[in-house]
Amino acid sequence: MSDFVGRRVKPGSTLDTKTKSWRAKKPVFKQDACTGCDACRLACPEGCVFKEDKKKYDVNLDYCKGCGICAEECPVKDILMQLETGCEEPEAEVEESEAAKKGGKA
Ligand code: SF4
Ligand code: SF4
Repeated sequence: MSDFVGRRVKPGSTLDTKTKSWRAKKPVFKQDACTGCDACRLACPEGCVFKEDKKKYDVNLDYCKGCGICAEECPVKDILMQLETGCEEPEAEVEESEAAKKGGKA
């Protein structure tokens, strides 16, 4: 079998690809209201959410790409998506987008 770009041909080789550098946001597991439903772990496309205890989940940030699916799926909103350092919108752009939302000009 030929080896295409982006295609994994060796079992277990995804562990070689750390995706954290792509991320603009990271999930923060608050571990306050977790019911242990397992939805976040099952929904994560990278398989990087893990169960620490019965109602305690966390993430291996080396492999998290920041898609936010875990936070969307959590029925009790116990996962927050937090901007990574350096990914904040510049102030001028925030003001422009706020003005656009209000229908005004920037
Ligand atoms: S943000 Fe995406 S990749 Fe990261 S833990 Fe949540 S579902 Fe997985
Ligand atoms: S989806 Fe939310 S409530 Fe369910 S296990 Fe994950 S953090 Fe806990």
